[in-house]
Amino acid sequence: MADILILGYGPAGISAALYGLRAGLDVLIVGKDAGALARAHMIENYYGLEKPLSGPELAEVGKKQALALGAKIVDDEVTDLFFDGNDFVAGGLSGEYRGKACIMATGSARKKQPLPGMAELEGHGVSYCAVCDAFFYRQKKVAVLGSGEYALHEVSELLPMASSVTLLTNGSETTATFPGTVTVETRKLAGLVGEGAFKGVRFEDGTEEAFDGLFVALGSASATDLARKAGAAFDGANPVLGPDFQTTVPGLFAAGDCTGGTLQVAVAVGEGAVAGLAAIKYLREKRNASA
Ligand SMILES: Cc1cc2nc3c(=O)[nH]c(=O)nc-3n(C[C@H](O)[C@H](O)[C@H](O)COP(=O)(O)OP(=O)(O)OC[C@H]3O[C@@H](n4cnc5c(N)ncnc54)[C@H](O)[C@@H]3O)c2cc1C
Repeated sequence: MADILILGYGPAGISAALYGLRAGLDVLIVGKDAGALARAHMIENYYGLEKPLSGPELAEVGKKQALALGAKIVDDEVTDLFFDGNDFVAGGLSGEYRGKACIMATGSARKKQPLPGMAELEGHGVSYCAVCDAFFYRQKKVAVLGSGEYALHEVSELLPMASSVTLLTNGSETTATFPGTVTVETRKLAGLVGEGAFKGVRFEDGTEEAFDGLFVALGSASATDLARKAGAAFDGANPVLGPDFQTTVPGLFAAGDCTGGTLQVAVAVGEGAVAGLAAIKYLREKRNASA
C-alpha cells in the first residue's frame, strides 16, 4: 500500500509525486492518459524549456522523472474513491489502489457539457454520485446520463436499488458493455423537465419521459465526482479546499486544473507541489500522533 496515492499523471500529479518521492515516501500514481497535455501542440511558456516541447513530449518527460525517483505508475481509469477508516481506496476498471493520503489531480472536467437546467436541479433529483444517493431511489425509475465505463459503474450501483435504470447517451455510442436489464436510449436530449425538482427529460424530437432521478456520469470520473464519493463537503458545485488544497476529508487533496482557476502547466505544477508537501505533513503528523 502506498503512502501517497495520486490520481492523474499530468503536471499536477507528477509534481506532487516528486515531493513525496524526495521525502522518501512510497508513491503510487494512477492515470488513464496524458490528460490535457495530449492535446497541447506546443508548450513555450513554461519555465526552463530551452526549446518548445509538444504537450505529449512534456508529459513523457514528467513521467520519466517520477519513475526515475521510484514512483509506481499504473494505467487505469478510476471510477470510485472512499476512505475505509485507514486508507483511501480508489476503484479502477482493472483494480483497486490504496494510499494513506490521496491527491486528486485529474485535470479539468470542462469537456462535460451539462444540459440546460441541470445545475439548478442538482440535489433536487439530479445527482452526481450513485454510491451516495442510490438509497433515495429504492424502487424508483432512474436514468443515468453517460455512455462509457464511468456510466457503467454508476448503473451498477443503481441496478440493485432502482425499479428501472435507463441509460441516456444523448446521441453518443456506448463505449462500455451495459447489462441487458438497462434500457439504452440514444436519442439526443434537449433539456430537463421540472422546476425546483427534477421530473424527467425532454428529447430533441419534442417528446418527454418521466424519471424520478437522474445520475450524471459523463466521460470519466472527475475530481469533483471522486470528492463527492469520498464524502468531502462542497460549496456549491466545488469541493471546499483549504490553502493547502486539502478537502474537508483529512488526507484528501486536489491539485491542478481540477481545482479551476488558471488552467496552465505552471499553475498545475505549483498546486501539485503545495498539495504534495501538505500530504507529507499530514502523514508525518498522523504517524507522530499514533507513535
Ligand atoms: C489544447 C491545449 C493547449 C494547451 N496549451 C498550454 C500552453 O501552451 N501552456 C500551458 O501552460 N498550458 C497549456 N494547456 C493547459 C495545460 O495542459 C494544463 O493546464 C495542464 O496539463 C494541467 O495539468 P493537470 O495535471 O492539472 O491535468 P492534466 O494534464 O489534464 O492531467 C490529468 C490527469 O488525470 C488523469 N485522469 C483524469 N480522470 C481520471 C480518472 N477518472 N481516472 C484516472 N486518471 C484520470 C488523466 O489521465 C491525466 O493523467 C493547454 C491545454 C490544452 C487542452
